[in-house]
Parts: sequence; C-alpha cells; structure tokens
Amino acid sequence: MNKKILVSYSLFFFVIASFQAEAQEYFYTDYKPFDSKIPSPEEFLGYPIGDYHTRHDLVVAYLEKLASLSDRVSIIEYGRTHEQRKLVMAIISNKSNHDRLEEIKRAHLEVVDPGKSVSSFNNLPLIINLGYNVHGNEPSSTEAAMLTAYTLAASSHPIVDEILSETVVFLDPTINPDGRDRHTQWVNSFRGQPFISDKYDIEHNEGWPFGRTNHYWFDLNRDLLLAVHPESKAKLKWFHEWYPNVVTDFHEMGTNSTYFFEPKNKSASMLPITPMENYTTLNNLFAEQFAADLDKIGSLYFTAEIFDSNYPGYGSTYGDLQGSLALLFEQASARGHLQETPTGEISFAFAIRNQFVTSFSTLKAAVKHKNTLYDYQGRFFNEAMDKASKSKIKAYVFGDSYDENRNKAFLELLLTHQVKVYKNTNDLTIDKKTFAKDMSFVVPVKQKQYYMVQSLFETFEKYRDSVYYDTSAWSLINAFNLPYASTTKMPDFGGEITNESLVKKKRTLQKAGYAYLVDYADYNAPAYLYHLLEKGVVVKTSSKPFKMDVDGKFISFGRGTLMVSVQDQIINGDDLHAILSKGSDLFDLLVVPVQTGMTIDGNGLGSGSLKTLEKPKVVLLVGDGVSSYEAGEVWHLMEQRLKIPLVKMDVADFGKANLDKYNSLIMVSGSYSNFTSKEAEKLKTWVEAGNTLISTRTANNWIISNKLVEESLVEKKKDSADDKRVDYGSSEAFIGAKNIGGAIFEVDLDITHPIGYGYTSRKLPVYKNNKVWLSPGKNIFSTVARYSEDSHIDGFIAPENLELMSKSASIIVSKVGGGRVVMFADNPNFRGIWYGTNKLFSNALMFGSIIQTPQ
Ligand SMILES: [Zn+2]
Repeated sequence: MNKKILVSYSLFFFVIASFQAEAQEYFYTDYKPFDSKIPSPEEFLGYPIGDYHTRHDLVVAYLEKLASLSDRVSIIEYGRTHEQRKLVMAIISNKSNHDRLEEIKRAHLEVVDPGKSVSSFNNLPLIINLGYNVHGNEPSSTEAAMLTAYTLAASSHPIVDEILSETVVFLDPTINPDGRDRHTQWVNSFRGQPFISDKYDIEHNEGWPFGRTNHYWFDLNRDLLLAVHPESKAKLKWFHEWYPNVVTDFHEMGTNSTYFFEPKNKSASMLPITPMENYTTLNNLFAEQFAADLDKIGSLYFTAEIFDSNYPGYGSTYGDLQGSLALLFEQASARGHLQETPTGEISFAFAIRNQFVTSFSTLKAAVKHKNTLYDYQGRFFNEAMDKASKSKIKAYVFGDSYDENRNKAFLELLLTHQVKVYKNTNDLTIDKKTFAKDMSFVVPVKQKQYYMVQSLFETFEKYRDSVYYDTSAWSLINAFNLPYASTTKMPDFGGEITNESLVKKKRTLQKAGYAYLVDYADYNAPAYLYHLLEKGVVVKTSSKPFKMDVDGKFISFGRGTLMVSVQDQIINGDDLHAILSKGSDLFDLLVVPVQTGMTIDGNGLGSGSLKTLEKPKVVLLVGDGVSSYEAGEVWHLMEQRLKIPLVKMDVADFGKANLDKYNSLIMVSGSYSNFTSKEAEKLKTWVEAGNTLISTRTANNWIISNKLVEESLVEKKKDSADDKRVDYGSSEAFIGAKNIGGAIFEVDLDITHPIGYGYTSRKLPVYKNNKVWLSPGKNIFSTVARYSEDSHIDGFIAPENLELMSKSASIIVSKVGGGRVVMFADNPNFRGIWYGTNKLFSNALMFGSIIQTPQ
C-alpha cells in the first residue's frame, strides 16, 4: 500500500469514526464511559442508528453479539412467529445476578404467591420487561432497544451499575417481527438520498396491508387477552413464569404529535377492576422521571389527555391485572427517515432518542421506587383474593353439552391466563340453565387470578366513560357462546383441568357397512367436512333432526348432521374408512358408524331432506380500501381453524379474473371505490349462476347501494334531538358516545336455517362495533338472525342506537337468481376469538350451495 493510499484510507476511517462518535454523542451523552470491546449498534450494523430501519434478524444478531461478549447479557428465544422469525429477549443484569438467576426467579415468585408473605426485598432485584415495537410500522422503539441494550452492556456509569444490580431486564426488542420487517422493507426500499421529507413521498405512505399487524393482519396489541397468535401465546407463557414488576409498551402516533407517557386519560382510563393505586400512585411516580428526562433534551410531551387502559388485552394493561406497572409510550412518528410537519421536520433519529431516553427513565424510576413496586406487587394477589372472598359470587359454572372442542378452546384460554378450573361432578341447574356433569366446568372466584376470572366472565353495567378507544366489552365467555352461570353457593367439583388433561384422546372408528354419521354441533365439524370433501368423499347433510338406534342405544342427530353413505362413494370402503378415521383423529371428533339406513323418527338416510354438499372454492377480495383486519380474520379462520385454502385476490385484479373457478366469494368491510357498475354487474352475474357471495359489515352498504340485492338499510328518522345545540368543547364526548366502540348483543338465531346448523340454542351473543343496520330480509324466510328484544349483554351503547337495533337484522340471506348473498351486519370472526359466531361464517361456506330460500 503506498503512502498516498494509506493517508486517504486512514482519513476515510477517521471520517467514519468521528461520524460514529457524533452519532453516538446524540444518544449517549449521559452514560459515558463505554467499554470499547463492546461494539455499539452503529459499529455492528455499519450505519448510524436512525439512518436505516434495522431488519429484525440484524437486531437479533446484535443482541447475540452482546451476549457473546458481555457477562451482563444472555439471550433467550421464547417463541417463533407465523413467518418463523425468532422472538427473543436479552436478559440483562450484572454478573452476580446472572449467576443466581434461578434463585432470583424462585424468590420473586414467592412475592406473587398469595400463600407466602415476603417483607424484605433488599436482596431481590426487580424484574423488568422492556417491550418494544408491537406495532410493526411504529419502528423507532426497536432501534431504541438496541441503544438500551448497548448502554446496559457497555457503560460503566454509576447509574448503569445500579440498574444492573437492582434489576433483571428482559429486553424484548421486537414483539411483532413479521410486521416490523414488512414495514422495514418498505421504508428502506423507498429511502431517498438525501432523505426526502415530503409527506407525499411513497416512503411515508406504506402500502396495503401495512406493517402494523402480524402475519395474519391481526393487531397484536389486542391479542394478549385472546392469545390467538404464537407471539402472544409465547409472551404470556413467559409472563407467568416471571411476573415482571414493570412492563413497557412503546408505540408511535401521528407525525404532527409530540410524546405521550402515562398516566392515561383519567375519566376513561381504568378497567373497573384494576386497583386505583396503580393509576394514582405508581404512574405518577414514574411520570416525574419521564418529565425530568424529556425536559433535559427539550422534547415536547403530554400526558393524561388521551389513551385508556380499558381493555385487558393491551400490552400496557395486561400487566396491570398481574401486579405489574404496565406503561404506554407514544412517540410522534417519522414514518420513514425524515418527514415534514407544521413545526419543522421530524427525523427517525429524533424519535429513537425519545424512546431511548424514556427506556432509561423507566429503569431509573424503577430502581428509585423499588420497594414501592415490590410492596405493591406483594400485596396485589392477596388483595385480589380478599376481594374475591367478599364477592357474593362463589363460582362460575360453564360448558356446552354438545360441543367438546369449543369447551376445550375456552379451557385452553383459561389455562393460558393461569385461571384454575375444575371438572363439574354433578348435573346442575342454575338460573334455568342445565350443566351436564361430564361436559361442564367450575371456576371458583377465590383464586390468585380473580381479576382474570372477572375479566373473562363478568359483564359490566356501569361505564366510567362513553368514549372508548377500543372495545368496551371483553367477557370472553360470551365470545365462545358457552352457557354459563354464576353461583352464590360453591358447587362440588372434581379434578383440576391441566394442559395434559386437554391432550386429545386417540379415537378408534369402527368400519361401517352402511354409513357414517357426524353430528354438526361440534366446533370442528366444518373443518372435518372440508377434510372429507377435499379427499373426494361424497357427503350429505340433513335438513331435519333424526334419531338412530346404534347398537341398542338411541342417538339424536341435529340439523346439519353429516352423512357419508358407503354406497355413494367412488372410493372403496377401506379407503373411505381410512379418510374418515384420520379426520376423526385430526379434528378430535366423534364419528358414528351405522349398519342401517332406518332412522327412528325420521324418514331414513335416503330421504330427500339429505342434500349433497359441494366443496367450497373460496376467494377473498383484499387490497386497497379493504379492511385488512377483517380480511386477515377470514384468512386466519380458513387456514388455522378450517384448513381450507384461500385465494386472496387483489381488488385491482377483479376485473380481469375469471370467477368460474370459485363458488364462494368473500367481501369484508371496505370502500370498493375502484369498483364501477361493470364490476357490480360481473359479480351479480356470477352470483346468479348459483354461487355464494358472503359479505360482512360495511361491504353490505356497497352491495345494497349497487343493487346486487333487493334489500335495504334501516333509515334513522330525524328527531328533535338532532337540532339541539351542543357546546364546541364537548364535541368529542358527544360524537364518541354515538359510536359503537364494540359491545355484545343477543340475537335470535333461526337454527333451522343452514347458516344456523349445529347451533342448539336460538339465543346467541354477537359482537357489534359498527352502525350497519340491515333491514330484515324482504323474504320472510331470509332473516337468519335478528337482535333480541332485550339485546344488550355487555359494553356501551347509546339509546338511539338501541332503537335502531330493535328494527334491524344481524344476518340475512338474499336470493339472487340461482345464487345467494349471505349478509353479516356484524363481524362473526372478530379478532379470531369469536368461536361462538365464526361457525356461522363457516356454515355460509360449507352450506351456501344448498340454501334455496323458499318463495
Ligand atoms: Zn401502536
């Protein structure tokens, strides 16, 4: 190397090095000096933090690097996402804490054990879960997570020493890696050089389906109560292993905003069951530190104005029901690397710095108030038990006598939240509801997870506020449509339900000489049906109930029962038996072999009331203007529950697509604004040819206004209240109260209609979070579900909306030529947890072809 090259080469490194120093200076002024053997994120990645969005695999690689170099850091993989990305946490503490981690865990778990009383916390570090980036396109916090990990690993500042000694930090850099990488790919691809701050640049306007959500387009910041997805399941498992004292949940909000930290809005803030002390004492102690640290760097912020803790499935609320202090942060988003705002430009680096600063504020405040946090956590579950003792309700009993798999799904959810549940040992009747001893369960209220019991079973009549950021109803027992009752007398109960006891039994299916029957009441029956159709089995369904004598035992079969006749098939009896047997095992479903076609009170298995079913070939419209949440819920249901392949067709391709390949088309809420009368005509012609169109929520508005059906919406009559004068300053509360943020209502379901097959009761809870008011069907047989007279079950609704509801239908099926449109005013698939209503949706797919509304 000649001298000239050497000089310029050194100069090059000098420039890079000084640039890095400067970049680091922006973030780390407070925590110098740093161990030079530990690479900063900039050194590891090869670019200054804020210059690019860092891919999740590189974030993981950086934490692995820290773990390999520092005895303060180790790393665990706590799960995998749908797209197989690693869910990791860096465990960060000093060496001596690392060496006794198991002992710390044991001692910490004694604090949250209501049977134990721990009074000294001197030797016990706090457990802190720094959680980042649950919304994938709110990316600043993951970059801040790397800065935080680096500072904790490399700084020898006394503050850092104290944090490392008094806490064990579980740093989760990316709660939603699939969503983050979707967004990261977008902004890095369109990144300008120099940065382009124009808000109309494509970099700042991410395309459908956006990076906020996970693989199936679900909001993971709603899933922590529902535990539908692997990300939440894995996090909850970790949560109940460690019961952190403090949990953080970092977000971003509108570009023109500033910075938000807790406390949240007081009037709407709390779940009725969260202890007030969490809000009044703990939040304020931490807020002092956030304010002081943000003051120092001059960042604007606000607090207590908006956001609520009204839903137990938020990352910043779940912990509040588990003795933690769970904290929400919201940073104005740069949505890209640099963006213009009315008050200048906001850079990605600026957003990252705020999140980094409050990460450290959290750690500092926690250390300062360690005894308060431990004292609070130590009392938390004891106080929950005390409240439970004072409750008039002693237990909840629940269970569906006909549906083992729906019972099982709810039991799994209870176990995920560590709720104790036992077998019911006697036949019981409570509030005129009967609970069969082998198909029902008892949840005593006096248990450590009393607050979760309340969350899952109780409905609330009083609401602190009428304006909700999200849902106002979360009694999940209703989402599962499970019969349940509270009781003031503790019933006898038997063995505890455990995950081991829920493992499915091996089923043996005897070979039938004549036919096989499957009652349709079980949740997995539609999935089983598809399994058979997909394998080429000819399946009929019965439109009438009947009874059979099977080996001397009378067995009842309801409407929708599947009948597979040995004679009907092209495949031989052995192959047929193998397919049925495998499905029975796979979907944990009882299949009854019969040797005769003679029914007891019916007309024989050859009766015309048994109709041959078609295999659904399904297409879902997705893309610009379509609700990605609802589309994702359909996608998830089809793949994960029904095991049905789904074509997701971009609305932009609809015009050129040949629809003859499909017999079922799904339209979820959306504007369908690029659809002209030509598209409407194409769709109508396809339905008329004998196919099934299924629509949910606002898609019905498009279908009605484009005259695909001869149905209508309920018109709101103008009344004198509409002319009343309201103060400008009260607009938010006034408008908010008119919305339906999300509440639960009862409908009367026609269980003789194919859409209602498999349901054993006409009363069904549905979830409503919209104002789509469908008029009852023009044909008297076409209103499948109508809101009950006294329909309210749980959640907030304004009286004027109840009035409209009383005139409306929840589901109608409209005949169009030889086909039909199944219209759901509400969302039967809400957040993947509405097991009670998503079977209606499954039925629309499985039984659509046999619906011929009588004229
Ligand atoms: Zn967010």
